[in-house]
Amino acid sequence: MDSPIFANLIADGYEQRAPDPETDAIDRGICAESVCMQCEKEGLLYQPYYHPTTGSYRAFCVCPPNAAT
Ligand SMILES: [Zn+2]
Repeated sequence: MDSPIFANLIADGYEQRAPDPETDAIDRGICAESVCMQCEKEGLLYQPYYHPTTGSYRAFCVCPPNAAT
């Protein structure tokens, strides 16, 4: 199931990656320790979106069944 917000980010030119390895590691760790507010599952998937032109960075912690990948 694709979430509309992720599809919109890709349409706006975002790429599915972090701006740098350090950011990737930090935010990936935060998501791994996060708990889903809907099903209370612990250990969420890190979904980074980075816009190479604007430098905009959006990161989401997603429950595995709802992940875009
Ligand atoms: Zn969940």
